[in-house]
This record gives sequence, C-alpha cells and structure tokens, in this order.
Amino acid sequence: MGTPRDWATLERLPARQLHAVQDAALRRCVREELYPFSNHYRRVFDEALVRPDSIACVADLQRLPFTTKQDLLRAQSTPETRYDFVLRPSPDRIRAHWPFSRKLALVLGGARAREALRFQYTPNFLTFTTGRSSEPVGFAYTPFDLQVLQQGIARMFDIAGLDPSRDRLVNLFPFAPHLAFWAVTLGGFETGALVVPSGGGKVMGTDGSLRLLERLKPTVIVGTPGFTYHVLRRGNELGTSFANVHTLILGAEKVPPGLKDKMLEALRKGDAGEVRILGTYGFTEARMAWAECPNADNHSTGYHLHPDLGVFEVIDPKTGAVVPDGEDGELVYTGILGHGTSVLRYRTGDLCVGGITWKPCPNCGRTLPRIGAELRRVSEQHALSLTKIKGTLVDLSVMGSVLAAMRDVEEWQVVISKRNDDPLELDQLEVRVAPRVGVDVGELATRIQHDLANATEVAPNKVHVLTLREMLEHLGMESAMKEKRFLDRRPKS
Ligand SMILES: [Zn+2]
Repeated sequence: MGTPRDWATLERLPARQLHAVQDAALRRCVREELYPFSNHYRRVFDEALVRPDSIACVADLQRLPFTTKQDLLRAQSTPETRYDFVLRPSPDRIRAHWPFSRKLALVLGGARAREALRFQYTPNFLTFTTGRSSEPVGFAYTPFDLQVLQQGIARMFDIAGLDPSRDRLVNLFPFAPHLAFWAVTLGGFETGALVVPSGGGKVMGTDGSLRLLERLKPTVIVGTPGFTYHVLRRGNELGTSFANVHTLILGAEKVPPGLKDKMLEALRKGDAGEVRILGTYGFTEARMAWAECPNADNHSTGYHLHPDLGVFEVIDPKTGAVVPDGEDGELVYTGILGHGTSVLRYRTGDLCVGGITWKPCPNCGRTLPRIGAELRRVSEQHALSLTKIKGTLVDLSVMGSVLAAMRDVEEWQVVISKRNDDPLELDQLEVRVAPRVGVDVGELATRIQHDLANATEVAPNKVHVLTLREMLEHLGMESAMKEKRFLDRRPKS
C-alpha cells in the first residue's frame, strides 16, 4: 500500500524532511513487501544475515549486495525461479510479516479489501529491456504500479513546465513494449494532456510523423534524440512549420552535447520561437523516468528525482563503495514504492558525472535530489586490439559524443571489424559520416581523425564520407527500433 506523496508539498520540502520520507518508505518496503514477498530478496537478506527490520535508513542498504542484470537473466532462465523478483503475497507471509493494523484492515475490509489486494499485487502489464547483447528481461507492473508510473510522469510534465489544458504533445517514441512509449502515453492519461503517438520511424515513418505534426500543430515533441533530430531535419527539407513548438522532451537515450544546438537550428528554420529542450533519464528496471527542468539557454541542472518512490546510490564501480554526494560514480537503484517486479540495489551500468546532490535546484528551486545529466555506459569501454602488442580500451560513448557534437556532421556511425574479416587479424575502427551540405569533405575527414584521437587516444583507421541517404539506410532510421550507432562486426569468438 502507500500512495505517492502530494507533489506540490513534496517538491519543496527541505532536504532533511525528504530524507525522512525516503527512509520511512524504504523501511516499509523492505519489511512489508520485499522481504516477505520476493523469493530472491528473502534469500539475499538471509544469506547476508541481515534482518529486514534492521534496515532503518538508506545508508543501511550498504550491508546488502548489489543486484545485477545477470541476476535477473539467471532468474528468468528457469521456470522455478522465473518469478523470484516479482512480489507474490500469500496468506502465510502476510500473517508473518505485516503489522497488526494492516492485517486487521484486511480482515475487516472483506471482499473490498481482497479486491484492493488484487489491484495492488497482480501484474497486468509488462515492459521489456532493450539489451543489445542479452535476452530482453520482462518487468511486471500491477495496476498499482501503473498508477505510480502515471503519477511519476505527471510530475515530469510539471517539471517540464507543461500545461495539460493547452499543450498538445506528439509522441515519437517507437510503439513497443518499452518504458518510454508507455510512460508518455500514461502521462497523457493521467494529466488529461493531448498526447498523440506516431509510433516512430518503423510505424508511421518520418514523413508520416511530419504529416501528423502538420495536422496537430503540437506545442511539445517527445522522442529519442536521434529520431527527433532526423524528423526536424526532414521537416526542414519539406518546409514543415514548427511555429507552435515550445518544448522538446528527449528520452530513451542520452542527449549528446551539441545535438541540442543542431535541433534548435532546425526548429528555427521551421519558424519556431523560443524552444526549451530537455533530456530525461529512465530505465526499465526502475519502471520510472526523471527529467531535467527547462531554462532559457538549455543548460542542464540534472535530472530531478522522486525521493518517495525510489533511492539512488552512487558507487565507485570498481570497489562498490558508496561515494560522497557530488562525486562521479555508477548509479544504483532501489524502488521503494512498487509491487510486481521489484529490484533493490540494482547496478544500472550508468556512470553519472557529478553524482547526486540534495541542494535545491538553482534553476527551478525544487528541493528534490538531482543526479548529473552527463551519463556514460560502464560497458561502453570496449577493448580493441589495434596493435599486435596489447588491447586498447576505447570509450565508444566518448567517441559518439565527439561526432554528435560536430556541427558539420549530420549523421554518423562507428563500425568495428577485423581486418579482412580474419578473426586472427587486428581490429579495425571505421567511422562513417554524412556531412552537412557545402562542407569541405577532405578537411572534415582530417578534423574527425584529429578530434577523435584527441578525445579517445585512438584514431579511426578510416573515415568514410557518405550521403545522408546512404547514412540513414546504414543507421536503420526508418527500419530499426533504434538507430544503429555502433556496429561490432567482429566474428564472435
Ligand atoms: Zn530544476
């Protein structure tokens, strides 16, 4: 039980009180939900010899091990463990673990209380992870969880400064069992704002999405950074008006620096006035997303969190130790208000620059904790054999940021292969780019070599300059669920 807190009060509470709200929700969640109803976490607590009622505050979580993607994959690989992360109450467990008042309410409530229990604990929806390297993992929601997500996204609309009675949103996220599409859809259901999906490149296509924009004249466009920019650029070619657009909300992938400027330029070409562009961060395992707040020059003050719904810890990815506020580290997430598939201390694999802060937002004044907007995947450190001597560690996300930020690069892709497709040969790094119209191609290729070598200490073996049309084809902009920025074509050993 428990419901999301009154937002207007919560978003301005002093940090000390927010901590208290969070600790109370965590205690309740561990004692009355996770420990009694999750097979996985009951085992984790028992093996670590940690009593659930000894977890009093967020710092106490450090006595428990992390949950990894491998744990989730392992659980779903056998029929006996498939539901180990799903909260499944039983009369015995309720009797053994719920406080007297809650049990009494259940008994006295009769049929209505039993129906409420079903609403809270029986899954009726799933979304899936979109891992490129592993099996998708399904995350179950109960009707209660859908309400929590719905309210979380309503908060996001509020942080984005939207007015549900006037704003019209076009949702460009791919129509799929993924968090992003459904989060925006549910946000519309909750707030009553008009939210119209195009289904993205694979469903309505770019030109179809633009016809929808022409017809609806939206004030807000929501989508992935790559596809949204592609739609804006194509809109410029077709002469689409963006005159009504005042906000872009980007999600599902990080927004590379420099891309906001390119988007603004395309919007201005379509007669838009002041437009605020904000990024969001969310992931399947949290069944939630968080937003930047908008400001005049589109700089970021970080993602605003919901301290009553979840806990973020920031850890040193090597040692696993929690780092002090304000320091870089990997984000670790614990949901504290939710049923269905529930995770505790889940390692996201996302490195957050600047970590977490509990200082009020200098832009909007909300007191909610925030995490830094610059995120990198831990796993995007790829070992490449570029010389006979040793493997070189290359951070592909840094490489992507450099390319996306270049004003003269319209689209890009990084391809890793083996020389002559021979598994025993050296690795080969190839960059494909579509340049902006009128750019000196030879000079651009040299500049890319130079900038990449500076940022990552590795220069590509080759820079291929392609036409925009060829590039869009390679990226799968209209055919794939998300564009293919990094291709690893090395034979699997
Ligand atoms: Zn703010």
